[in-house]
Amino acid sequence: MLLSDVGEFGLIERVAEIVGGDDERVVIGIGDDCAVLEWNDAKYLLVTTDTLVEQVHFRLDWATPEDVGGRAIAANLSDIAAMGGTPLAATVSIATPPELAVDTVEELYRGMQQVSAKYGLPIVGGDTVKSDRWITLSITVLGEVKKGNLLTRSGARPGDVVVVTGTLGDAAAGLDVLERGTGTMSPEIEGRLLAAHLRPEPRLREIQLLFDSLTPTSCIDLSDGLASDLRHICTASGVGAEVELEKVPISVECHNIAALTGKPALEYALSGGEDFELLLTIPPDSVGDLPRLLRATTTKVIGRIVDDASIVTGVDIEGNRVALGKGYEHF
Ligand SMILES: [Mg+2]
Repeated sequence: MLLSDVGEFGLIERVAEIVGGDDERVVIGIGDDCAVLEWNDAKYLLVTTDTLVEQVHFRLDWATPEDVGGRAIAANLSDIAAMGGTPLAATVSIATPPELAVDTVEELYRGMQQVSAKYGLPIVGGDTVKSDRWITLSITVLGEVKKGNLLTRSGARPGDVVVVTGTLGDAAAGLDVLERGTGTMSPEIEGRLLAAHLRPEPRLREIQLLFDSLTPTSCIDLSDGLASDLRHICTASGVGAEVELEKVPISVECHNIAALTGKPALEYALSGGEDFELLLTIPPDSVGDLPRLLRATTTKVIGRIVDDASIVTGVDIEGNRVALGKGYEHF
């Protein structure tokens, strides 16, 4: 059997069977945005790790080494945000071919340093090893979360509303700009989409703002795409969900590239992935607080959680159920 037969999530299940055991210090093991460990009376320790392979996850003819480094840190920080946490420290391991210019490696680290400094994340160690041909970058980030603030994928309940931060699909649209080559739209539009793809902002500040006035029941960061990540929440929580498709927040820039490529803007938003926005579920009695939060955090209600776990669907403006499509899966 090949990895491509079982897929990314099939592989994770198999790995979890091998290494996952009972340990009272482990609050949450494999299967959420971060692992959660007992730490002290007030807080849990969070751990997340992410690996990027040149030519698979990034190309140095499309992105500067600084962009690649900064984006890698941002992706890890997004997982810390998805648990309701704040960052503590990072380690970075890099495998590079000996022929690589020292400058390139330094620029990678400069990009990591820029983003980690912005979000208060010291980089405290790692490893440097040789690779055959391509760069591999592996980052581990530790974070902390107040016990009462811990958000997981498994807390969504029927009746909760589904909310997302920001606009969806811009990162995938930015990737399309790179694939098509720049210069087909205004530099301003292309610049915004490229920034979404190359320089995503982890929603660390926004999640802390939400805690000021409401208690989300579950959270995930949008790395695989809304369709796929909403399914992760539903599977972990044993519930279903309905998304009102006309409410999915899509930027003018994303509509612009959709008009050019002929791919529906909604497809970018539902299946694009790597927006690193947050998808949260919120109890219905908290919805009254949202108008104020909408201004503070660009958070938008897009749907609701339902009892029937077999339903994870879109609903169009006429009330018809529409498939949400598929998100990104490795292998
Ligand atoms: Mg994640």
